[in-house]
Amino acid sequence: MPIKKTREKVNINKRRIINGEDADVIQLYPMKHTFAWDAYNAGNANHWLPTEISMQKDVEQWNSKNVLSDDERHAFNTVLGFFTTADSIAANNIVLATYRHITSPECRMYLLRQAYEEAIHTHAYQYIVESLGLDEGEIFNMYREVDAIYNKASFILSFNEGIFNPEFKTGTLESDQKFLENMVIFSVIMEGIFFYSAFAVMFGFQRLGKMSGSAEQIQYIMRDESQHLNFGIELINTIKAEQPEVWTPEFQQRAIDLVREGVDLEIKFATTVFPKGIFGLNAEGFQDYIQHIADRRLQRIGLPVQYGSTNPFPWMSEAVDLNKEKNFFETRVIEYQTGGTLEW
Ligand code: FE
Repeated sequence: MPIKKTREKVNINKRRIINGEDADVIQLYPMKHTFAWDAYNAGNANHWLPTEISMQKDVEQWNSKNVLSDDERHAFNTVLGFFTTADSIAANNIVLATYRHITSPECRMYLLRQAYEEAIHTHAYQYIVESLGLDEGEIFNMYREVDAIYNKASFILSFNEGIFNPEFKTGTLESDQKFLENMVIFSVIMEGIFFYSAFAVMFGFQRLGKMSGSAEQIQYIMRDESQHLNFGIELINTIKAEQPEVWTPEFQQRAIDLVREGVDLEIKFATTVFPKGIFGLNAEGFQDYIQHIADRRLQRIGLPVQYGSTNPFPWMSEAVDLNKEKNFFETRVIEYQTGGTLEW
């Protein structure tokens, strides 16, 4: 599109998350959606890289015959099998679908940061697989082989049909709702629910003093993911405020139904992957935990709770759900926060 040559300044009151009228997606300032800039700065302050974390102890424990049981090895591999492809799916959705339709430059700015973080997460899983000498072909292919992972990935990817189509455009009630549905699927369900039983397993290892390097990688990932979730929820709520007509009772019911479907898939994942439970976390505990977090996600987009389950893993909420993530790993991130000391 040619640039319109004009002295007229951008009117940010016209700026919208989607469907910005005459949207200038190049001028970052002045900003309207300041939550996106805050998220971008939080992401930078929390910057980390997988290779900073020592995997030495994990390698020793993994190679030792008497640290991990067969069940624990199975759980560790399967959780990695889910993780290795999940962040690639999330990254593709940002770059190939979400970004294109967002007409707020400050939101695009955060999406660029988020896309990079998804790459860092995929790098972290690759680094764990490589450090431990696991079978890459087995782990990375699990999303096509293991039913519980395949079902979650297929559910998510089925919603890319339509929105990945180059012809797809927002601007009608139907297409705006299709876009919002994609946000519910990726932010609320993928980033807000589908990662969490796998996170719980990794923290189960950590609580026993096992695989602590891998668990530390996952802690950084979880901190990033909770920021991704917060941003996604802000996007959804801002679209609701800017275009209240999209938030019909039918759409709300559809969002609830999708979340319920996601919860069922996640419970199935947890119970088929860890049939005997793990680290004292039994199937019932996973079910309550997944329902509990789903209720919280629904509340945050203004929908009614569905389950009323209490949180059986309170130690998870200490690590995940609080909004104090920014200070959570102060010791390491400080180097980034004080600005790079480049040596020339
Ligand atoms: Fe993410």
